[in-house]
Amino acid sequence: MGNTKIRHFTMNKREFLKVAGVVTAGTMITPIIGCNSSEPKTSNAITANADGTFTLPKLNYDFAALEPNIDARTMEIHHDKHHAGYVRKFNKALADAKISGKSLTEILAGLNDRKTSTGLRNNGGGHFNHSLYWSVMSPKGGGKPTGDLADAINTTFGDFMKFRVQFDKAAKTRFGSGWAWLSKGSDGKLFVSSTPNQDNPLMKNLVEKSGTPILGIDVWEHAYYLKHQNKRGDYIANFFNVIDWNQVGENLKNA
Ligand code: MN
Repeated sequence: MGNTKIRHFTMNKREFLKVAGVVTAGTMITPIIGCNSSEPKTSNAITANADGTFTLPKLNYDFAALEPNIDARTMEIHHDKHHAGYVRKFNKALADAKISGKSLTEILAGLNDRKTSTGLRNNGGGHFNHSLYWSVMSPKGGGKPTGDLADAINTTFGDFMKFRVQFDKAAKTRFGSGWAWLSKGSDGKLFVSSTPNQDNPLMKNLVEKSGTPILGIDVWEHAYYLKHQNKRGDYIANFFNVIDWNQVGENLKNA
């Protein structure tokens, strides 16, 4: 796997430079990673580079690709400013804490000190959460899950609409900033939850119910304010139009 990591780092460094200044809004080309189906997609962001740092993942689609559901300007600021900021600050927090050689999921699962882990918690969480968020959206998304994922949702919630009502409520009622999740628990069952700030269900010592998130929606205002202002419910409805259920199904398989 060493080769994969090095290759990944090289590509991502090049991609990062593009994102940082060369490629202009709305003209991002098909990512190199996305061209080769044998390469992991955005979820590869959870693997550390050879030097222990993490890299802002490239989107698998243009900023404008999710319109009219999510507007290009929101996507651009959200990815290039917000997510990039989490990655930058996370790398600094890792260096300060002298942590290297751990995967992102390991780091998040190991957080247990509310007083000293703020930088790792907020920025490591921010990096994981946004990487998942980009990967579960697609211009070809929407509709309903199929296969094993559909079966798991039906078993746990009754049917897709009952799941959707629960997820919708978790996203709508999260006070302030945070996320709503569909996760697989250690008992193998799916569950819906919501977390504040950049927390997520991987932080097993910090959340009420822990598990592996397979779908997440960002309900921070920066995810929807330009287009929807205060109408979070409209944003959540639009999010359902772009959910990539195939990717969510893959996430369930890997969880
Ligand atoms: Mn965000």
